[in-house]
Amino acid sequence: MRLLFMGPPGVGKGTQAKRFAHERGLCHISTGDMLRQAVQRGTPAGLQAKPVMERGALVSDALVLELVDERLGEPDAAAGFILDGYPRNPRQAADLARLLEQRGEGLDAVVALTMDVEHIVPRLSGRRSCPECGAVYHVSGNPPKEPGRCDRDRAELVQRPDDQEDVIRDRMATYVEQTAPLIAFYRDAGLLRGVSCEGSVDDVAARLSAVLGAAAA
Ligand code: AMP
Repeated sequence: MRLLFMGPPGVGKGTQAKRFAHERGLCHISTGDMLRQAVQRGTPAGLQAKPVMERGALVSDALVLELVDERLGEPDAAAGFILDGYPRNPRQAADLARLLEQRGEGLDAVVALTMDVEHIVPRLSGRRSCPECGAVYHVSGNPPKEPGRCDRDRAELVQRPDDQEDVIRDRMATYVEQTAPLIAFYRDAGLLRGVSCEGSVDDVAARLSAVLGAAAA
């Protein structure tokens, strides 16, 4: 199965993509995660991406294409994948189409995750994560047992620099201007499946399974 997960920041795209990939034995490919890792390691790609990510804009199409191309070439991606957060503009969608064509592959479905805009800022601004194991919490919706510390390894939780309220608004604007137009593109291609992200993580996962049941068969 080859899938794309799209949606505005804060809908729980990463959480659902990771879970679905794990359940179905697919490779989870998140350009956001790959870029954050590059920033943390201080690689040339990371140094280029850091200031762009901090202001909620998109890093260069060439840079993400290189990351995705490399990742899709790794052996585990042959079993199927979920691309999470890529493509994010029409140029990237064209790049991806070309990449897949070269590989003789196609997409089975594009999932558009949706949520009321007013729910998004509080969800993101309360998000905290563990720098050691990557576990994600929310200060009120899904708090750790001990405030500020990871349940698994007790590491001090951190807030992503781009989860500050003003940056969240810029990320939303970037999504509306550059990424949302892809929804019509994939709808016209007959690939789009809409899934509401209201409710619990389990509710959304159940909806996703139902919607992707046919694609998974
Ligand atoms: P995410 O974790 O998907 O919300 O991504 C975090 C940030 O990484 C975004 O706000 C962008 O700055 C950058 N980023 C992630 N994916 C892409 C992409 N496909 N194209 C350009 N920038 C990206």
